[in-house]
This record gives sequence, C-alpha cells and structure tokens, in this order.
Amino acid sequence: MGANRGKGVDEGRMIYLDYQATTPVAPEAASAMAPWIEEKFANPHSPSRWGREAAAAIEVARKQVEQAIGLSGGSAAFTGSATEAINWAIKGTFEKAPPARNRIVTVQTEHAAVLDTCRWLESQGAEVTSLRVGRDGLLDLDEVRAAIDESVALVAAMLVNNEIGVIQPVDEIARIAHDSGALMLCDAVQGLGRVPIPDEADLVAVSAHKIHGPKGIGALWMHKSAEPAPLIHGGGQEQGLRSGTLSPALCVGFGAAARLASERRHADREHVERLWAAALEALGPGWTINGSIDQRYRGNLNIRREGLDGARLISDMRDIALSLGSACASGSGRPSHVLRAIGLSDRETRSSIRLGFGRYTSEMELAGAMRRIDETARKQEKFAA
Ligand code: PLP
Repeated sequence: MGANRGKGVDEGRMIYLDYQATTPVAPEAASAMAPWIEEKFANPHSPSRWGREAAAAIEVARKQVEQAIGLSGGSAAFTGSATEAINWAIKGTFEKAPPARNRIVTVQTEHAAVLDTCRWLESQGAEVTSLRVGRDGLLDLDEVRAAIDESVALVAAMLVNNEIGVIQPVDEIARIAHDSGALMLCDAVQGLGRVPIPDEADLVAVSAHKIHGPKGIGALWMHKSAEPAPLIHGGGQEQGLRSGTLSPALCVGFGAAARLASERRHADREHVERLWAAALEALGPGWTINGSIDQRYRGNLNIRREGLDGARLISDMRDIALSLGSACASGSGRPSHVLRAIGLSDRETRSSIRLGFGRYTSEMELAGAMRRIDETARKQEKFAA
C-alpha cells in the first residue's frame, strides 16, 4: 500500500470495501508498535528493567482495550485472536458448569468460531440449541425465553453480524439468560468501537484487526464472577488464565487502535452514516438489502440483485475488494449459512454481495465503486438475457 498505508487504497487503483473481513491498520497503531518490533525485545514476563517496561506497556494497552469495551466489574485477557477468545469462553464455561447445566444456547447466524466450538462440545456431551432468526436476521425474544431454562450454562449471541451487519438485542438476551442463572457470551468483534457493548454481558470477545489494529491478537473480557477455566496451559501468564508469552508489539498496537476507536467513536459513526447514504444513492434501483435496515451497523451493506452471479461480479472487478460473505465462506464456495438462515434461497444467496466500509473510505471512492458494481451487474443481465 506504500504511501497510502492505513487508508486502504492503493494509489487510487484499489478500492477496499471488505471492512468486515479486516480493516486497514491505523497509522497511529503502526507507529505505536514500531519500537516494540525494531528495538525493544524483552520478555514482558521477565523481572529485568526491560521486562518490566514491556509489562507496563502491556498494562496500558489492556486498560485501553478495557476502556473501549466500557464495562465494569471485570478485566480483559489478551488472546491470539477472537476465535481463541470464543473457544476459551465456551469450552471454559462449560467445563466449570455444574453437570445439571449441560446446555448451550446460541444462534444460527453466529460466526464459525462459535458454531464449530458448540458442535465440538456436542461431541463431548453438551446439548446445543441454535436459535433461528427472522427474515430481518433478528432473534424473536419469545423464542429466546422459551429456549432458556435452568439446564443452560451459557448463551452465546453476536452483537453485530459479520455478514449482514444486523444488531441483536444482546442486553435483553443476557437478562433472560441471567433469569435462569446462565452466563452470557457476546461476540462483539464487529461491534467494538461502533455500537455500545451490552452492559449485561459476562464474557465479551474482541479482535484487534477489525478495529484498525494488528492481526494475531484478540481479547476476552470477563466479569469477575464469570472467569472460564483456562484453555491454554503453561507458564501461567494472564493471571494463570491464558498461558503464553505476550507480544508487546501486538498488545500495544491493539491498545492504540482501541484508544483511537474510543476517541473517534462519534466521528467514525457520522462518517459511516454518510457513506451508507452515498452508497445507496449511487447504487440505484434493482437491489435489495439483506437483513434489517434499522437494526444495523451501517458500515455493512449486504445486497442482492435478481439473477446476479456474485462470484462472477467479484472476478470481473478485481480492483474493488468486496466479498460474498464471511472471509471463510468466500474461500470455501459454500453458500453462506447466515443468508440461508434469513431464508434466502440458494439462488438469492449466490446473487448476494457484501460491502464493508469505514474510517478510511471516502464518499467519492465508495460512490464510484457502487456505480461500477451496478453497471457490471447490469451488463451481466444483458448477456444473460
Ligand atoms: N467473530 C466475528 C463476528 C468475526 O467477524 C470474526 C472474524 O471474522 C471472528 C469472530 C474471528 O476473529 P479473529 O479473526 O480474531 O479470529
């Protein structure tokens, strides 16, 4: 990306519209990391002066991440990814739960990190209920109430969906979970810095690379009363809860990105609102938005068009980075489980594309990209006719 590092645009040629897959690293995060890559190499868990300096930098970063999460009564432990944080939260909560609480309740539209971990736990004797969602991608709270009772150890629900951007009512779901004595895990990977993190959550998983930080680091925020059993054993780092030498560079980069996300919360939100309006205006008629429009983070636009071949559209426009759904689903060629869950047919799923934009996207480049997407889609129709 050269001179455009952090902007997500390569010399005006490449337009990056895949913010749900990952985000461009903020220049502030990159420069905070630089000394910890180039000069300072101490082990943050060693007692030397250098080690203590690295440990102190990690503690500053931890506070910055905790402040961006904004909840009280608990603390965050760093992990290698949000996937690890989610695995840890689910497996570690299940391990500590009394035998009579052997159920986990989750949602059909969760990320694979949740669904596959639940599937694995099923093979270990857990009973898993995956709640369906409506055409708008949202849960029906009466169905949530009906599914949760005293046999449930954990309820896992995502805040902002990574494919269709819809926002689940996690606080209400958590209250229902608590009424039955179950804990609540919120996958807030796409929500951090964008929508308020639900107060009622006991466990919150986040990831640096979705908020303009580096890849390879996430965190699990845990309420004091809800610490899961450790997933990774070893040297006893992170209060004995998550062993492994921490990377000061990655922690500091995450901290800087989190601080920026907190400081720019309002500016980023207003910018995203403007981008959303500009995108829709440029797109023109003939497109349908997948999932709720009102209950949505507007830096995500998942749209479909009758007869469109989404995969072909992507290969026709190599200079615009967009996707068919989650990064994992795009690679596998499998139809998106999220679009299936909101009731789309295979045909409608294939004709859907996901656009993600944010802090470093300009209205002009987005509008230009939308016009090109619309034109290319209409050309496809002409050839198909
Ligand atoms: N949860 C959601 C909603 C995501 O979008 C992602 C990343 O795609 C993850 C979890 C996993 O995050 P990580 O890449 O840090 O493992």
